[in-house]
Amino acid sequence: MKPETQAIHVPQRQGGDIAPAVRLTTTFEHGPANELTHGYVYVRHGNPNSADLEARLAALEGGIDAVSFASGMAAGVAMLHTLPRGSTVVFHDTIYFDFLTVGRRFLRDWGITPKVVDFRNLDALREACDDTVSLLWFETPTNPTIDLVDIRGVVQLAADIGAKTFVDGTFASPALQRPLELGVDYVMHSLTKYIGGHSDVQGGAVVVRDDADAVAELRQVRKLTGGVLAPFNAWLAARGLHTLHCRVEKHCANAMAVADALAGHARVETLRYPFHASHPQFELARSQMSAGGGMLSIDVAGGREAALKVAGVLKLIANATSLGGTETLVEHRKSIEGPETTTPENLLRFSIGLEHADDLIADIRAALDSV
Ligand code: PLP
Repeated sequence: MKPETQAIHVPQRQGGDIAPAVRLTTTFEHGPANELTHGYVYVRHGNPNSADLEARLAALEGGIDAVSFASGMAAGVAMLHTLPRGSTVVFHDTIYFDFLTVGRRFLRDWGITPKVVDFRNLDALREACDDTVSLLWFETPTNPTIDLVDIRGVVQLAADIGAKTFVDGTFASPALQRPLELGVDYVMHSLTKYIGGHSDVQGGAVVVRDDADAVAELRQVRKLTGGVLAPFNAWLAARGLHTLHCRVEKHCANAMAVADALAGHARVETLRYPFHASHPQFELARSQMSAGGGMLSIDVAGGREAALKVAGVLKLIANATSLGGTETLVEHRKSIEGPETTTPENLLRFSIGLEHADDLIADIRAALDSV
């Protein structure tokens, strides 16, 4: 079955319902000695809506199972909680900024050593790895610099050193990139973005390729730390999956049109879009993604002040964080990430939405021309 069909038809429907029901109950009847009589015990341990979402995600990504969480951050942090004490996790250096902060703030206290390396240089990555490395953590494309990491290359390196691989696939979504098929062990998504798709639900999930023990560990961490996806949010995220592929197709077409329109503009110092021929990793992008996605960044000529001015005069496009919704958003990432980030101060990130591309291009061009 093709992924588009799986997103809609997996798993089996219950009781003849075409649309799944929202099951808000927090508790389920069980036997006197806690015998499992209806499949579930308590909402924090798992519930029908999160199970439905997890089955769909696992099928879409080609994993054995998925574990959903209250947010993308909760999903990623749960993964870190499963790592053995005394081990090392190596992070790609331009992953989502809050995960780097988690590494700096907490990991040593948890008995885990964090290292940060540019995964685009696989030789440097190999050099940085010793036999304590348990996990190679990367993101591709990255937020917000739109760098790519060679998924096959990292998988090969991990196999050589006996480590596992974890990829944050939020920007690409399961519609454009299938890391588990390339040998990655865990793929994580912030469901808040393309999977939810309408800027109205927060969630996260880790999909596991083949390790049933890892699934059990993640479920145990979730149960004990409580970062559970609420049933209604699971239902919203699962609903998002039904339209994911057709929404993402339009996000990609719009972003490609915007990239073409902005390339060569005097105010655009650097255009960052994976499927634009000017991207330094264009060939890599084409080898591991089926299209460029809806995320595009530009470095504005004239530095921070010029970038802020452009962001400030956009009319249709709102300044707001997050991404993957129907509406196009812009964000000056350095301002939200703070002083420790390496994000360029003249970078503006666009989450290209589902409006008509002509309207987006007109708004962005007018803003760039006004500076
Ligand atoms: N990963 C990426 C690439 C993100 O952009 C974000 C949030 O913006 C996250 C993870 C965290 O997801 P959430 O906000 O759902 O916790």
